[in-house]
Amino acid sequence: MIVDLRSDTVTKPTAGMLNAMFSAKVGDDVYGEDETVNKLEAKVADLFGMEAAIFCPSGTMTNQIAIKCSTNPLDEVICDETAHVYRYEGGGIAFNSSASVRVLYGDRGRLTPELIETNINPDNIHHPKSSLVVLENTVNRGGGSYYRVEDIEPIYHLCRLKGLSLHLDGARLFNALAETGDDLKDYGRMFDTISICLSKGLGAPVGSVLLGSHEMIQRARRVRKVLGGGWRQAGYLAAAGIYALDHHIERLKEDHAQARILEDALRKLPYIVGVLPVETNIVIFELDDNFKSENFVSQLNHQGIKCNKFGMHMVRMVTHLDITSEMIGYTIEALKKVHYHH
Ligand SMILES: *Cc1c(COP(=O)(O)O)cnc(C)c1O
Repeated sequence: MIVDLRSDTVTKPTAGMLNAMFSAKVGDDVYGEDETVNKLEAKVADLFGMEAAIFCPSGTMTNQIAIKCSTNPLDEVICDETAHVYRYEGGGIAFNSSASVRVLYGDRGRLTPELIETNINPDNIHHPKSSLVVLENTVNRGGGSYYRVEDIEPIYHLCRLKGLSLHLDGARLFNALAETGDDLKDYGRMFDTISICLSKGLGAPVGSVLLGSHEMIQRARRVRKVLGGGWRQAGYLAAAGIYALDHHIERLKEDHAQARILEDALRKLPYIVGVLPVETNIVIFELDDNFKSENFVSQLNHQGIKCNKFGMHMVRMVTHLDITSEMIGYTIEALKKVHYHH
């Protein structure tokens, strides 16, 4: 048996999704003529109660476009130290936006208004101009931790008061909502820009959507073009995204339940010293000091189980659409067979 727990990006389209892709009506999206892309963009904008949306190849692109559109060169972006925009986008903020980053140390990646407020620079030529706050929900490196709307509300008010823009990296926002039951329209109301990924827990093969005002998304179209992201008959991929939104949101709770079963099993193993509380579909745990994650990952690999090293002694497992309960059972048995000598 092969069990791929490296990421929720590894899912393959289901038969129903492939059907939707095959029968998509397409056109040239650079001319704005792909009706399936247009339908996806309108659908997502409507879900959030936002004016406009743009479909892009990746979440890195939607995040980077949002940052570019909300900053000027020499500005400063405020985000958590673990943020994907800072840690996993190849230094793109410096390259694409010529902006610096103020990294904060939040609670498992979650920021508070107090933490942000003390890190907004005074208006003085010595300091870069603080212009954008980026939140991530759920937080990948936080072990799938999430914000509730009530946590974000005071951050939103602070940003309005101080004249900062607010961007959401919502790569796994639907995982957060599966737990909180919060309203998408509240997100649409508070954020200037929102990026969501269709290719993570929602199970589409490719694609992310950026949301914002008409004016913001018009600017985003220019930046997407510059980045080489003006694509043609992208409707085949948009069809997968529409299918994912219609069929794969309800089931996200199943992934969370599987992740909690893994968590319980991991806590009982003698070579594991800690597991970040599992809140959604991400499980991050720490091995004993003398046990290197490379060794652990390779032993599991030999048993057909794939997972990611997440630090010297840290490992990450992510549950998703293609993980069955049999696979979780198999993984738990395999974990018991891992050899570890003091
Ligand atoms: C996956 C991910 C992204 C986007 O990644 P792409 O691989 O470029 O689509 C952005 N933010 C977070 C938190 C992610 O996990």
